[in-house]
Amino acid sequence: MFGVVVCPQCGRAKGVELAKKTSSCQCGFEIRVHPSRVRAQAVTARELAGMVGRINAEIHGAPDEVQPIAAKPRKRDRDAFARIVADANRAGDRRQKVREAAEGLAREFVLFSFDDWRRILDALGVSNAQDRLEELVRGNFVYEPKPGYYRTV
Ligand SMILES: [Zn+2]
Repeated sequence: MFGVVVCPQCGRAKGVELAKKTSSCQCGFEIRVHPSRVRAQAVTARELAGMVGRINAEIHGAPDEVQPIAAKPRKRDRDAFARIVADANRAGDRRQKVREAAEGLAREFVLFSFDDWRRILDALGVSNAQDRLEELVRGNFVYEPKPGYYRTV
């Protein structure tokens, strides 16, 4: 279970795991997670991110600063890149390889950055990674749900 607490020092709402006794705020304050202080509860991290945003908006009137907790890109590992490249290499022509590369990245990491994309395309021997990505975006095959991060539609 997760909960939302408000930092007594800076007044920012923060998502915490209810099993933990304390949680450190961005401002450096160590917040004691006490049931009476929990403003809302959530089962999933995604739900929690929405609640933190709402409560911060209630307090400050500006949801912009809130970091999406659920949308953090997954950790990259070399095996994942190798799998994506191997799958893409099995696809037919260059166009299909490029699409398979995007699908592989979305499958492994959910969101991928341009660096991830270039790394795969380099391994596939496909040049102009930027152009290839823009083609996929224009073709509605890939979109950019947050700046600098991509996923397949
Ligand atoms: Zn704080």
